[in-house]
This record gives sequence, structure tokens and C-alpha cells, in this order.
Amino acid sequence: MSELIVGIDLGTTNSEIAVVENGRPRVLLVDGDPILPSMVGLTEDGRLLVGKTARNQWALAPERTIKSVKRKMGRDERVSLGEQHYRPQEISAMILRKLKDAAEQELHLPVRKAVITVPAYFNDTQRQATREAGELAGLEVVRIINEPTAAALTYDPSQTGTELFLVYDLGGGTFDVSVVRAEAGIFEVLASHGDTELGGDDFDELLAKHVAEEFLDSFGVDLRNAPSSNARLLRAAEAAKRQLSDHPFARIEEEFIAEKDGVPLHLSTEIAREDYEEWIRPLVDRTLTCLQQSLDDAKLSAGQIQQVVLVGGSTRTPLIGALLEERLGQPVHREIHPDLCVAMGAAIQGAIIAGESIGSVLVDITPHTLGIKCLDIPSDYSFAYNEFKFAPIIKRNTPLPANRSEVFCTVSDHQPCVDIEVYQGENTDVRRNHRVGKFVIEGLARVPAGNQIVVQLDLTLDGTLKVSAREKATGLSKQITVENAIAQFAVEERTAAQARLNRMWNDSEAGQAESSWQREEETPALATGPAEGARETVQAVALLEKAARLRDKAPEDDRADLDRIMTRVQTALVDQAWEELRSASNELSDILFYME
Ligand code: AMP
Repeated sequence: MSELIVGIDLGTTNSEIAVVENGRPRVLLVDGDPILPSMVGLTEDGRLLVGKTARNQWALAPERTIKSVKRKMGRDERVSLGEQHYRPQEISAMILRKLKDAAEQELHLPVRKAVITVPAYFNDTQRQATREAGELAGLEVVRIINEPTAAALTYDPSQTGTELFLVYDLGGGTFDVSVVRAEAGIFEVLASHGDTELGGDDFDELLAKHVAEEFLDSFGVDLRNAPSSNARLLRAAEAAKRQLSDHPFARIEEEFIAEKDGVPLHLSTEIAREDYEEWIRPLVDRTLTCLQQSLDDAKLSAGQIQQVVLVGGSTRTPLIGALLEERLGQPVHREIHPDLCVAMGAAIQGAIIAGESIGSVLVDITPHTLGIKCLDIPSDYSFAYNEFKFAPIIKRNTPLPANRSEVFCTVSDHQPCVDIEVYQGENTDVRRNHRVGKFVIEGLARVPAGNQIVVQLDLTLDGTLKVSAREKATGLSKQITVENAIAQFAVEERTAAQARLNRMWNDSEAGQAESSWQREEETPALATGPAEGARETVQAVALLEKAARLRDKAPEDDRADLDRIMTRVQTALVDQAWEELRSASNELSDILFYME
């Protein structure tokens, strides 16, 4: 085995450690979690806390807890913890030490060398402080690399071609956007902009501010004045924010959060995603200005960017993806967990230094968008309704398991029921997608149009889809489960392909000559032109079906071969390139024979 060099993302809010095993990066668990909060604290009796335990105590004892020490790296400052004062790199070293210990426990190997990532804008002093933190933690820092480079490496570990990436990284406390050029394994940051004071924490604060103001109006108490109520409020706001990334509403319930005249007060409220998005919109717009600046600095237009990669937990906010897609005119990539990909990229860099070869990063994602059929009412209130609008809920390439919901409204007064028709596909017109299930929710409240129905989709790793619809006002709900939703699509796709091919056959001379397969077999004269194609076609379809059946059981390496040859067969079919189809089918047949 080559030398072990781990990759570490030492983040402002969270940190992660990853390693490459058998050519693939894997994030290791720390206290059972891949994400370690970058927090350090001291208990009342002087015990050191790092990570989750420090974060938990932060709400109760913010004065004994340190967060976001990364912001202070490289500064000639001291941070106090209990009676003691520490340099920022000493606090970072405690976080690195925790990561190192956890990795050693999981790998049962000593961990001595690491690649650590830093923001592209870090100056030499900040990089040096990071190196020092690593050394204090007992690590030889073999390389410091830029976070956007690490992210790009995760999406292009083969490092063969030339590619331009735009890496949009919005974490807890900082924002960076970088243009990275990859050329034959050399990664270069062409331009980088950002805001060291902008991140998910600001979203939390905005959300908390609105909740606190509402509470102040209701009870005359400002939750922000008492440190422990404020810390609880912020923690609840953060949880609600995460909820809003996947659902249209989030509830906040905090009992005994404050007291007035000896009477305990409870916080209980609901936030709508729509409102939240309006609050954070100015902050997101600031990131888009930075993005434009970095494109201008790199002298590139949006159209020249080949991959837009999202990094940092805050990019899970749907508004961000939507605005970026609108601005850049292309889909964004977040298939690899945006909060883990930097650590994975650092591990890839470590493995490259150690001389290991790297395969692509495998992730379980949904290959197609899932959503429901709905009625689209034009904004001019004309009566040109579109009855077949596809409303996506879980977007294609979302990592699995995925759980998302969206809110829809009834269109008629006293509407007693709604049809929930679930489709899979990418077309805005549901008729061009595939229906995977349908049910009716009946007995809705007799209220005017605009009754809110929350539709939730849960897609598990094994492809089971649970669809539920809930009348928001009453809680009335109904659900169905679709087994094998993803596989079912593949079957439907194959069936449709087969139907197309059957039509081709029927349209062909052979088909019109009222021949059976047998007859066609017996009549070599038909084996030219379309008849010849028909025979090749039928054989190819049978092989493709068999390949699809065996594919999931095939070992990974065989699967890649199989995919390549299946694509060749499919392309030849579409092109009606019979010679090529014959040769590709023979190859496919050989592989299948070997696999069976
Ligand atoms: P990072 O520094 O990359 O670990 O990002 C941490 C930030 O991501 C914190 O502000 C988190 O609250 C935020 N975050 C994590 N998950 C989500 C989510 N599902 N939706 C929105 N923000 C999130």
C-alpha cells in the first residue's frame, strides 16, 4: 500500500477528514458524523471539548466556547478559553488533532501526513499559520492547497482534459467564488473573489432577527438580550433554515426560552420559505456581484465555463442554485456533497502525491427529476391555462436519500379533492415524462381557492419512492409508495424503446410483407435494407434488455465496460448503422456471456 496522506478541510464552521481507498475518496467519521463542527470549548471543570460537544455547550456557555477561529488565522491575536489565552493556530490544532485521532481509530493506522485546504484568498501568513496548526497537531503538512482547487479535483479526478470550472463556495462564515482552470492535471485559480464576512451564519441571523422581532411584538421580550436565549434562538434558526432547503415551511418550537415577570415564555412559530428567500435575497445578490467580478477578472464569459460546482453547506439553499442557473445559463453541480467535496479533493491530492491512481468519485444520485403534474396559471390571468405543467420536486442529480416537499394550491373554491400525479423526467410538459404513480386526496376543507397542499417526496437509496400529500390547514393527508421508482423508469424507457423499434419493424419492408419472425428468418431476400436492420434491431434490443438486467449485479469494472458497449449499441441503433450495430452487438453478447 502506498503511503497514507489524508486530506483535511479545515473550515470556518465545520471540518472534515478524508482518505483515498482503492482509488476512491471517502470521508471518515468523527464521533459518528462526517462533519466536525470547528468549535472548541472548556467544560466548567476545565475539560477540553472539540466538535459537537463544544457546539452543544455553546448555547449554554458561549463565554467558554470558541467558534470561527479560522477567521483569526494569521493574525497576531489571542483568543481566550477559560483562564488561558491561545493563538488561533493552537485552537485550530485542537480541531486537527481531533480529526487525526478519529481517522486513526477508524483506519487502525497511524496518520502522520496531511494535505490541508485553505481559501484561495489566504495570504502567506495565513497559510503559514495553517501549516503550523497542522504541525502542532502532530501532522506533517505535505501540501496546502486552495479549496476551489480541491473541489475541482473531486469533479475531475482523472485530470486528463482541459476544463474551466466556476467554484461557488458558500459556507457558514465565508463566501468565495473562483474560476479554476484544469489542464493535464495542473489546476490553476485564474480569479477569485469573495467576502470573508458572508455565509450561512448571516442567513441564520436574519432569520433569527425576524423571529425575535415577532416575539418582541407578542411578548415584549427581546430574545437577543440574554446570551443563552440568543444562542438557543440562533440554533433554532439554523435548524429551520436547513429545513427550508427541502421544505416550503419550517416550524420553530423552543420551550421556556425566556421569562417575563416570573412567567415562562415559549417560542412557537412557522416560517415560509418564500419569506425567508426574500430576507436573504440581498445577501445572495452580493455573491452574484462577486461572481461577475471573478468572471471579468478571468476575462471569461459565463458561456465559457464548463462546470459550475457548488461547495459549502449553504449552497443547499435552493434559491442559490436557481439564481446561479439563471445567471450562468447551465445546470449547477452538487452531486458530490457540497460540504464534503473539499476534504475529498484534499484526499485526492494526497493520494496523487503518494503516487496512487484515482478513479471517479461515485455518488448515488437520482438520474431523473421527480415531480407532479399541476396547472399553470399565466401571470396575465388570461384563461390560457396549461394543464400539463411538470412541477419538479426532487431534481435530477440530487444525492440520495432525498426528501423534499413543495407547496401547491387548489384552484377552485370549495375544491373537495386533488389528483396527485407523480412523474419522472426532464420535460416541462408532463405528457413527455413518465408517470410513476397517482392518487387522490379527498375530503379537503370547504374553503376558497388557494388551499395549500404540501406534496412530499422521499426517495431512498434503493429507489423506493414515498409520495405524500397533506392539506396544510387541517393535516389531512394521504400517501403512496412506489417500489423501484428509478428502476421502473428504466423498464418503461426500455419498453418505449422497444415499442419504437417494433414500429420500425412494422414499417419496414419485412413487417409489411406480413412476415413472421420465422418467415423473415427463412427469407434471406429480406435481409437487406430495412429488413436486415430489423433483424439486427431485434437482436440488439434483446441484448440491451438482458444487459440492463445484469448490469446492477455486475462488478464495478464490468459495469463501466458494459455501459460503454451499451451506449455503442444504442447509438448504432439510433443511427441505423447496421454494420456497426452488428459489431457492437457481438461485443455486447460476448460480455454478457462472460458475465453470466
Ligand atoms: P460549511 O462551512 O461548508 O460546513 O457550511 C456550513 C454552513 O452550511 C452552515 O451555515 C450551515 O447552517 C449551512 N448548511 C448546512 N446544511 C444546510 C442546508 N441543508 N440548507 C442550508 N444551509 C445549510
